[in-house]
Amino acid sequence: MSLQQENRFQTIISHAKEYGFVFPSSEIYDGLSAVYDYGPYGSELKKNIRDYWWKSMTQMHENIVGIDAAIFMHPTTWKASGHVDNFSDPMIDNKDSKKRYRVDHLLEAHADKLREKGAEKEADDLLQTMDALLAKEDFPSLKKLIEDNKIVCNVSETNNWTDIRQFNLMFSTQIGSVAGEADTIYLRPETAQGIFVNFLNVQKTARLKIPFGIAQIGKAFRNEIVARQFIFRMREFEQMEMQFFIRPGTQKEWYEYWKEARLKWHLSLGIPQEKYRYHNHTKLAHYADAALDIEYEFPIGFKEVEGIHSRTDFDLSSHQKYSGKKLTYFDNEINQHYIPYVIETSIGLDRMFLLILSYAYNEEKWTKEDGKEDSRVVMRIPEKIAPIKLAVLPLVKKDGLPEVARDIIADCAPYFKCFYEEKDTIGKRYRRQDAIGTPFCVTVDHQTKEDGTVTIRHRDSMKQERINKTEIKDKLLNLLLF
Ligand code: ATP
Repeated sequence: MSLQQENRFQTIISHAKEYGFVFPSSEIYDGLSAVYDYGPYGSELKKNIRDYWWKSMTQMHENIVGIDAAIFMHPTTWKASGHVDNFSDPMIDNKDSKKRYRVDHLLEAHADKLREKGAEKEADDLLQTMDALLAKEDFPSLKKLIEDNKIVCNVSETNNWTDIRQFNLMFSTQIGSVAGEADTIYLRPETAQGIFVNFLNVQKTARLKIPFGIAQIGKAFRNEIVARQFIFRMREFEQMEMQFFIRPGTQKEWYEYWKEARLKWHLSLGIPQEKYRYHNHTKLAHYADAALDIEYEFPIGFKEVEGIHSRTDFDLSSHQKYSGKKLTYFDNEINQHYIPYVIETSIGLDRMFLLILSYAYNEEKWTKEDGKEDSRVVMRIPEKIAPIKLAVLPLVKKDGLPEVARDIIADCAPYFKCFYEEKDTIGKRYRRQDAIGTPFCVTVDHQTKEDGTVTIRHRDSMKQERINKTEIKDKLLNLLLF
């Protein structure tokens, strides 16, 4: 990451804290690593992103329904899904600093350094060797690769490494009163399994025919090792996942369909296409026959925001095997029983939130008509998902203007989130709304009392126009509909 990128990232993190979007968890106790809380504007923004996804999946698709499964699941779920055996990363510790690293991250960082020095070929060779050794789980050779490349810990600056070990990312806890092996349960590391185990309940009760989807939004937990990237990589986070059940053999076309549909969803928020790219996986997870990431250009570089996976019938077949319950579907169009194939779309709500912050944060400077310099920080949050849609500002605290402003709020508040403020100059109040991304400000002045008109100011252009106060609600509703 360049210094400029690092600075921009740190500025966004500070802004998010200062303006009530995101706080470190339990900050009065110095925080908890990779865990965050959402403040007044953050919780509104997060809810709006969640609703935007939920609506586009369930309300806009008649063949997609939602569920809300529990975080705790029967422990065998995670055996069947492969998480007990496979959801781990090879890790290595530095004996001097006691710092733990993911082996692939350590080698990738070294490859980046080689690239910076112009040694492109060495970097490519290193990553190729790493991929081959990771695929074979050849840990002694991976350790030797780290040593041969003289990779050192960035704290102790030594290469005094432990052996490489697998480290499972699931959090476990005990259920019931007696502690012991049999009582160990996990906090779900993904929401998808809650969908798979409910597949038949949902299909039967909602009377769905293939192809159909089940969507879910909920918390997931991973004991991430490298967790220094704000809300990009958290230990407790929220996922928005949809499993689309299809006839075996049709997975290629549905994979293409969802690959495009999901990118369209991102673009529908008005974010430019060049900020996105697809990244096809060459190393596939144990359950997938094709997979790609939708990547966004965060201040920390192009990174995954969403995954599209063709999961075959891996999960349902495995749950059928472990539970002994039949999980087949009868397709009466072709008169066949089969276990459906699945295309999954999986996006992190918190990561999408970071994407919006990264896109929206803008520092602007310009010269005014009188020749003086002016500047502002503006969050160009897409209007539909902005935490507050309308600020209503009486020019002065007297002459009946606050009452008119309150009446406007009473008219609009049932439809969208409004904000009232009468303190400070109008200019200062506009700046505060810019900093939290409010797309519209209405100012009530003395003319309002005479002819019923108000000034409406648009956040992005800063243009102002006069409209009748009775038009405000419908004007905004048209712009904000999603
Ligand atoms: P990564 O490679 O970044 O660890 P992943 O490939 O393990 O992610 P998936 O298991 O495919 O991620 O999860 C789907 C989505 O969930 C990701 O695209 C991301 O948006 C989100 N996600 C995954 N892990 C985290 C995390 N620790 N914190 C925040 N969001 C996450």
